[in-house]
Amino acid sequence: MDTTDSIIHLAPVDQPTSVHQIAARLFPAYTIDEGGIHLAGCSLDDRLFVRFGFQQGGEPVEFYLDAAGHEVDAAQVRILGMSETVKLDGPPEPAEREIASLKELGRQIIEDRFSSGNAPEKVDVAAVWCKSAQGKLRLTVGQHSADLPFADWARTLEPPPFVCPYTGISTFHLAATDDGRIVPAEAIERCAETGHRMLSGELVTCSVTGRRVWGQLAETCPVTGQPVLREKMVECSVCRERVSPGAVRRDQCEACRNLRPLSKADPRMARLLDEHPLLDAWGSWRMSETRAVYVLVAAGWFRRLLVVVDRDSLDIKLLATGNRFTAGWNMVDRPQYDYVLHG
Ligand SMILES: [Zn+2]
Repeated sequence: MDTTDSIIHLAPVDQPTSVHQIAARLFPAYTIDEGGIHLAGCSLDDRLFVRFGFQQGGEPVEFYLDAAGHEVDAAQVRILGMSETVKLDGPPEPAEREIASLKELGRQIIEDRFSSGNAPEKVDVAAVWCKSAQGKLRLTVGQHSADLPFADWARTLEPPPFVCPYTGISTFHLAATDDGRIVPAEAIERCAETGHRMLSGELVTCSVTGRRVWGQLAETCPVTGQPVLREKMVECSVCRERVSPGAVRRDQCEACRNLRPLSKADPRMARLLDEHPLLDAWGSWRMSETRAVYVLVAAGWFRRLLVVVDRDSLDIKLLATGNRFTAGWNMVDRPQYDYVLHG
């Protein structure tokens, strides 16, 4: 096989060749509210391929090897635009040794294809240099920024979508929250109380006012389970729990209005008696529960007992006594709990 000694150097005719062209391809894809975009590093590297062309049965045949000596499939040749090339003045970087070894590899491949003595007399060998582009885009709003890396063949490089680390949303339209996070514009919402721009997922809808507010400004009502602006929560006059005004009637929360008789065999009561054995001195229990507490009322001959217990810890949050024949409760101070529970 004969190969010309001084091979020609080619490049795809339509591949971007400058950082400026890369920027022009990427930037228009993004919309950044009150911000901008620039390249924070971009390099274009030339990757070597070697093309072998010859005649076989009167038809032109060609194949390509990449720098590692692997044959390039037809789809990749098309993607890289290697069949439409322009001539370069010389190699973009020194590669004599690599080209020599690829030529030798190509020669062996051609010899293996043809039975001995039938190998083509003339093989055209050309180096084709394809540019890869890598770098990162910097999206900025005021003092804040987020980087978006990219890496691909310069010819096929597409603007990568920004994948939000907070919401997982993939987007080309970005904006900043008031605390400087760069996020998808569609994920931003304004807190109706503070006016701050934040992620929609950080807001809740107050079930009393209907306003979308920062979650930290709201509490979850233990009766309704709904978020309520902290300042709108009210205290139940019986259990003293903070609840939604919607859960209160006649100053009593829904739990306190709906006490139900409870036997000592009830598993919840069994747990309570295990934790607070002194409760066993009382009887005629009625009970209700919220998401946060158990509300229990016991009745003796003359006295009544009100106990509010944390559902998780079983700590007594409130203890009060009352008269069997009058409404209203007298709060018991914590040091007096044992004395009172003895009945
Ligand atoms: Zn209550």
